[in-house]
Amino acid sequence: MVKEGAMSYDELFRADLDALKAEGRYRTFAELERLAGNFPNALWHGPDGVKQITLWCSNDYLGMGQHPKVLNAIDTTMRARGSGAGGTRNIGGNTHQHIALERELADLHGKESALLFTSGYVSNLAALGTLAANIPDVIVFSDEKNHASMIEGIRHARAEKVIFPHNQLKTLEAELIKAGSRPKLLAFESVYSMDGSVGELQGFVELAEKYGALTYVDEVHAVGLYGREGGGKSQELGLAHRLDFIEGTLAKAFGCLGGYVAGDGLKIDWIRSKASAFIFTTALPPYLAAGALASIQHLRTSQEERAQIHERADTLRKRLRARSYPVMDARTHIVPLIVGDAVKTKALSNRLLERHDIYAQAINYPTVRRGRERLRFTPTPLHSDAHMDQLMEALDECWSTLGLKAAA
Ligand code: PLP
Repeated sequence: MVKEGAMSYDELFRADLDALKAEGRYRTFAELERLAGNFPNALWHGPDGVKQITLWCSNDYLGMGQHPKVLNAIDTTMRARGSGAGGTRNIGGNTHQHIALERELADLHGKESALLFTSGYVSNLAALGTLAANIPDVIVFSDEKNHASMIEGIRHARAEKVIFPHNQLKTLEAELIKAGSRPKLLAFESVYSMDGSVGELQGFVELAEKYGALTYVDEVHAVGLYGREGGGKSQELGLAHRLDFIEGTLAKAFGCLGGYVAGDGLKIDWIRSKASAFIFTTALPPYLAAGALASIQHLRTSQEERAQIHERADTLRKRLRARSYPVMDARTHIVPLIVGDAVKTKALSNRLLERHDIYAQAINYPTVRRGRERLRFTPTPLHSDAHMDQLMEALDECWSTLGLKAAA
């Protein structure tokens, strides 16, 4: 039955999808199966059947999603404790694996406490949303490049907000002064995942201390990857103890799923007691908490993966630059290649997959600004020189066939 209200609902949905298609922004996702033990290779279920391809845009940055310690911990815990948590922690109680993981995360960041959520997205939504909604008269200061989950948390709280230009400390300071004695919450990221840029953590911390603002840093793209134990940029820069809230994910460098916020005991207890997205949803499966714990413990002591990923990213950047590709000037593990047009970016991504067995998803608006559409390469320690040779050859063919522009 086609339902008709004051309008035709289906017409509205179709018109919206048609508009996305006309702009080249309609999202299509490849059907893939990652090959544990053979990462970064995966199977692609394409129009001509199943074939093996290489992933070049995975956020399993270190390949921990297939690490034997992680898989063993998951397997053993799943067999001993079953598949699910059996409910919210509010009703079902605390599972031992969640507590052990929270202790490890707090210790990793040099904080008293940590609180788990079902994803990094949910942790931002819940923690920022709860802070912004419940601190009377608060103004939230948010970097313009902050992730959608942070924006949603702030928006959901309906608090007054000031969006400042990316990393612009002068503008931020002027806004902080304007806010006078009102409570303030300053939210930023440490590594921005689309540009590979780094947040001005030192400057943010100093301004927050000067003007009495709480600080909230998203370290989703930094935990596991930076700092002597993988505690993120805040650990690398020796700033963790000066930040109020450190948020991270278990889904990227740690190779599992889930998110968390770490901070002092009082603040985390307050979020635990008030955040709806913590209280009213089933906890992570205990086996995932055990897998994440094994991953974090491994990466706290092993430097190998961190050294390798940074070497791989530098090598790829150099190789792209040597061929005049418009690669962004990032000094992180992320290597963005600007195409600057939604339709062409999609065409490039499709051609790489269909002709060259390389998967690099097109990144379009609203994830990045219009005119800054790109491929975002994430080389891992498991991308060999041979993988890079294959990528270079494939890019050369696609770039010239599609008539794309080299760097100015
Ligand atoms: N924060 C940032 C900066 C992100 O880029 C993402 C996801 O990519 C998230 C949070 C959400 O993390 P998760 O994938 O664990 O939900």
